[in-house]
Amino acid sequence: MRIGLHVRVAGGYAAAVSHARGVGCSAIQVFSTNPRSYRPSAANQAALDEFAALRRDAEIDPCVTHTPYLINLASDDEKIYAGSMRLLEADLAVAGRGGIRYVNTHLGSYGKRDRKEGFTSICRALEAALATIPAGVVLVMENSAGAGSLAGGTLEELGRFIAALGHPQLGVCLDTAHAWAAGYEINGTAGVDRFLYEAAECIGLDKIHLFHFNDTEVPLGGNRDRHWHIGDGNIGVEGFRALLARPELREKTAILETPGSDEDDARNMQTILTIARGAAMA
Ligand SMILES: [Zn+2]
Ligand SMILES: [Zn+2]
Repeated sequence: MRIGLHVRVAGGYAAAVSHARGVGCSAIQVFSTNPRSYRPSAANQAALDEFAALRRDAEIDPCVTHTPYLINLASDDEKIYAGSMRLLEADLAVAGRGGIRYVNTHLGSYGKRDRKEGFTSICRALEAALATIPAGVVLVMENSAGAGSLAGGTLEELGRFIAALGHPQLGVCLDTAHAWAAGYEINGTAGVDRFLYEAAECIGLDKIHLFHFNDTEVPLGGNRDRHWHIGDGNIGVEGFRALLARPELREKTAILETPGSDEDDARNMQTILTIARGAAMA
């Protein structure tokens, strides 16, 4: 697998790429803009070109942008829905201009809305966004921790979006911490086999482009979105080893969104790369 980190770009793209390369990344994820703002990305072409050149030199590919958390494609509030669409379409356009392969987004929350209506709203949003998607960019829907009204908490539901849209540039990202919190017991070979069997049945492995590799201390099915260091949580070394041992995932990309400092990043990358090497030799 291509393995990388979510990195901060507050200190500039050069520092971000240098950090990623320093800890052994072959892929990278960044926030497109302030993750808690409705203001779309203001990235200019020169900055996007610089970022692309830095990644090329560092042999870091693919690049993923994570859309802001405020996006809610299931909202029945027209203002929130319109703001979400603006953010999503802006990120797709920026990805096209910046040679960024994946745009990863959360779908949002049904809130008090009828789930069927919310599902239709998300389909309408995805259809509109996909009508604007540049060539070479893939929009990936991230699974949620499945808390109550959050959309996309199950493989089955993500598969229904894939089937409803039937678009070649729509795919899925599976976050391991969210999957665990949603009740998928991926802490060893048997659980990972069941998880991937269900993912293949419901979604299709060809549609699963991306993984977020995060450990978590949340109990199984705990429905809370909390990330922890690789190997130190409930998924553990065995869970990641089982994922990394699957030959059908070899062409996929995995991004760590683990917490902490630059030193924590280095340690988490070292842990996952060691597990990956061991899995490849087994
Ligand atoms: Zn996310
Ligand atoms: Zn994630």
